[in-house]
Amino acid sequence: MNLTRFPRVNLTPSVTPLEFLPNLTRHLGGPGLYIKRDDHTGLALGGNKTRKLEFLIGDALAKGATHVVTQGATQSNHVRQTIAAANKFGLESTVLLEERVKQARDEYYDNGNILLDQILGAAIETRPSGLDMNEELEAVGERLRRAGEVPYLIPGGGSNAIGALGYVVSALELVAQANERRLRVDHVVHATGSTGTQAGLVAGIEGSNGHIPVLGISVRAPREKQEENVRRLARQTWGLLGMRGEFPEASVVVDSDYVGEGYGIPTEGMLEAVRLLARHEGILLDPVYTGKAFAGLIDRVRKGDFRKGENIVFLHTGGAAGLFAYRSILVPPPAFRR
Ligand SMILES: *Cc1c(COP(=O)(O)O)cnc(C)c1O
Repeated sequence: MNLTRFPRVNLTPSVTPLEFLPNLTRHLGGPGLYIKRDDHTGLALGGNKTRKLEFLIGDALAKGATHVVTQGATQSNHVRQTIAAANKFGLESTVLLEERVKQARDEYYDNGNILLDQILGAAIETRPSGLDMNEELEAVGERLRRAGEVPYLIPGGGSNAIGALGYVVSALELVAQANERRLRVDHVVHATGSTGTQAGLVAGIEGSNGHIPVLGISVRAPREKQEENVRRLARQTWGLLGMRGEFPEASVVVDSDYVGEGYGIPTEGMLEAVRLLARHEGILLDPVYTGKAFAGLIDRVRKGDFRKGENIVFLHTGGAAGLFAYRSILVPPPAFRR
């Protein structure tokens, strides 16, 4: 698969580590658990959006853009990484933050990613929930165009076919790492939201005959809707890659049993997963994505969905900056006394 024909900038200096989780594997007593550290992509605390942004910023520069516009929830990791990437390449940025999470606490609005967004220095606008955020994006693009700028619009999560190429790269990287260390990977598990990660992963694995089933654990949409959304983007990515034949639709599998009450709303399973990984392996998950996805993995291990002797790779997509936005839920006050 040749990805060099797509414009791309360099944001991640090297391949991300693939690590065994010996303590957690022993603790849960099920399959061998591994983690691919896409939380270590190197840009302003990293995360999965950095891989997508290599292709998105590459495309923006190729098109002569002066200004990047994107959108996300108030605690969006994607927004934080987009501002950082734009800064690195001398592009202005405007970001639209949707008030998607109801009844959030003060810390949700003044800590975590929103704090970092302000340090990184984008123009920040807010929007109430319930609007069509892509329309809002278009309107801001039009406003900038009239002001003489060349805007480049990045959809929520960087999830279009160009962004998904970043996860085709990650898939090829994972297959190569597994081959090199002679590790048979039986499943890949990860959090799925705006769909670019799963679409790219599946297109990359299927396109290279990797034969590894991918399970996306939804953090927002119900299973059927999420599968349909992932399939649509995976088909587009397959087309962009110029693959022969039809995209194998059955390779897209989503589980939406771990969303809880909704996007960004904590669950007991998430709290347990965050603590378990921190205390057994010294690894920080996040409250919105990887915490819920890992809760799903733990539950499925406990239910015996995987056989002993199988090897599972959890794709860590980042987001630990979000922990600070949920501090009083993770550690209820009085947390610590001087
Ligand atoms: C955006 C995000 C995801 C989901 O990836 P999508 O490509 O949007 O499906 C998972 N984990 C973290 C930490 C994220 O920020």
